[in-house]
Amino acid sequence: MPRTCCVVGCQTGYKSNDEKVSTFSFPKNEEMQNKWIKAIPRKDFIVSKNAAICAKHFTADQIITKWTSGVGEQKVVINLKIPKLQKNAIPCLFPGPKYLSNPQKKRKSPTKRVSLGSNCRNSKSIKLTEVILNYYIKYFYLYNIFYIGTHG
Ligand SMILES: [Zn+2]
Repeated sequence: MPRTCCVVGCQTGYKSNDEKVSTFSFPKNEEMQNKWIKAIPRKDFIVSKNAAICAKHFTADQIITKWTSGVGEQKVVINLKIPKLQKNAIPCLFPGPKYLSNPQKKRKSPTKRVSLGSNCRNSKSIKLTEVILNYYIKYFYLYNIFYIGTHG
């Protein structure tokens, strides 16, 4: 069973997604594990046994896909069935506007929706002020005519 990627918004490993992307377990080394936790845009993430991050969040040079041995003519290169990560690799790629690496951006999205809503309300209130203004202008002209008419 494929593991799902723990990065918010990433579809790797989900049933709805046929795309085959390698997943990597969290490092067992506590220091590295903390670095990973800090790197991924998730708040208070707790690493579970099956927690994994997919290859999409690592740069190409962080992922080892080939095993090489020997030099020159004796060099042997074998494609790894299961890619490995470089020892110090830390996930760094979190594409997409909804789940950018900065968690603050995540908090911005609901306010965006709110501001969109208030924009609608603004346009309504603009229309309303236009109506009031038009009414006022008409009234003002009428009043002027009336004033001039009685006092002119
Ligand atoms: Zn992923």
